[in-house]
Amino acid sequence: MNEFSLLIKPASADCNLNCEYCFYLKKCELYPERQRHRMSDDVLERLVQSYMETSQPLYSFGWQGGEPTLMGAEFFEKVVSLQKKYGKSGSSVGNGLQTNATLIDDRMAQLFGEYHFLLGCSLDGPPHIHDLYRRNLAGNPSYDMVLKGISALKRNKVEFNVLVLVSQANVKHAKEVYDYLIGQGYYFHQYIPCVEFDEKGNLLPFAITGEEWGDFLCDIYDQWYPKDTHTVSIRHFDSILTKLVDHTDNVCTMGRNCCQYFVVEYNGDIYPCDFFVEDPLKLGNIMEMSWEELLHSPVYREFGNQKSKWNKLCEQCEWLTLCNGDCLKHRVYGGHQPHHLSYLCSGLKVFFNHTQNGFDNLAGEITQKRRDEEQQAITNPADVPINQGRVGRNAPCPCGSGLKYKKCCGKTP
Ligand code: SF4
Ligand code: SF4
Repeated sequence: MNEFSLLIKPASADCNLNCEYCFYLKKCELYPERQRHRMSDDVLERLVQSYMETSQPLYSFGWQGGEPTLMGAEFFEKVVSLQKKYGKSGSSVGNGLQTNATLIDDRMAQLFGEYHFLLGCSLDGPPHIHDLYRRNLAGNPSYDMVLKGISALKRNKVEFNVLVLVSQANVKHAKEVYDYLIGQGYYFHQYIPCVEFDEKGNLLPFAITGEEWGDFLCDIYDQWYPKDTHTVSIRHFDSILTKLVDHTDNVCTMGRNCCQYFVVEYNGDIYPCDFFVEDPLKLGNIMEMSWEELLHSPVYREFGNQKSKWNKLCEQCEWLTLCNGDCLKHRVYGGHQPHHLSYLCSGLKVFFNHTQNGFDNLAGEITQKRRDEEQQAITNPADVPINQGRVGRNAPCPCGSGLKYKKCCGKTP
């Protein structure tokens, strides 16, 4: 069976915030029959059991929303106990959770810490930047609420990534955002471009252009490369290094096919991608179908194959092996077909050109370090780390790259 991971929406698109640029809030329209969407115990158990009956090098559960912490700590306690119940001896289980952090209290933080959940907290920069679009249902700023949740994580020594959505609020302020995150002691960053269109394919006011994305990434790189390559992890940059060193993709956007994971909605409905949760692409429901059937669904296969139907210009592009035509979401907007050139292409090229030498040097360093460590392990076998089953953030990645799990793909070779 093919490897796959899960992106689960236990509270569907429900959220306690109402961020202006959120693309998922409107997905509530898919399930208008209920105002409050919560995954039932039956769906949760079926989900965990059926997934853990498949053969995977790492059982990868990604909890997302909307806001997954609306489910409360009790839900995640059930998750962990079901994973223990259905996990075979020696199985590796990874839980990731993407959150706005505003509802995290000590009980939740303690649980996430104890079970090594990989947390991603959305924070777009200092208050005057963050609060521009990230507001609650009453229209009030959310920055202080986020910091309160992050304090609970810190008190309980839970590591987390900061996820920065790059929108018109911060795209011209890369250095300010980067310095702010470092000043706060946040060393794991993820930068995501906000690229949203109306139905006619016009860019929405808060979204960014390809040129802006390229300039932003170059500015972040220029802050990071001279001094922080060993202390600050930037997901996008780590993925480039993984690609250069191991020739594998640890993010779907850099791959050749979009059959990489499944989205599981609160009621067990399955879709192929977070950005394509829509009726025509509903693959089935986990209460009625097996993962084998879902994997072989013609709709899923056809969806996945679109990724490599890229533009003719991509064929001749020197960055094709790194970019693979970019994410479908940036190609099929406004009724365009998959062979439409990525909306971000111009910026991606600027970024790849600007950073090529630096990434090549870093890739060389990693390869050399790995060789040295292998040599040392042969000399002293007692130093070889043993995978204890559950992969912690700081444990060596099971793929054997020599990188920490949190900085690598989490896959077993
Ligand atoms: S459409 Fe984009 S986000 Fe979705 S699976 Fe493909 S590359 Fe990934
Ligand atoms: S940089 Fe542009 S042309 Fe090159 S592969 Fe990516 S999308 Fe295609």
